[in-house]
Amino acid sequence: MRTVILTALRSVSNLTPPYNGEVMARVCEICQKGPQIGHSISHAHNVRRKIWLPNLQRVRIIEENGTHRRVRICTRCIRSGRVRKAVS
Ligand SMILES: [Zn+2]
Repeated sequence: MRTVILTALRSVSNLTPPYNGEVMARVCEICQKGPQIGHSISHAHNVRRKIWLPNLQRVRIIEENGTHRRVRICTRCIRSGRVRKAVS
């Protein structure tokens, strides 16, 4: 039982950090938050792997030099005001 869980984790861990340029679509551009790996465990204790994705949204932001840019950032960064949104 325990070895099964370990091998499941190892197969998932290919998707975990580092996110060096390749799979950036699921990563927040501000805080680098990405997919979180874990298990979903049923009432009968069947263990399956589960990936929690960050709640990423496409947002137009204004950078310090005044230019607009479209980024994929998590809703936590939007809520905490870590970017200046370009409101039309
Ligand atoms: Zn973020």
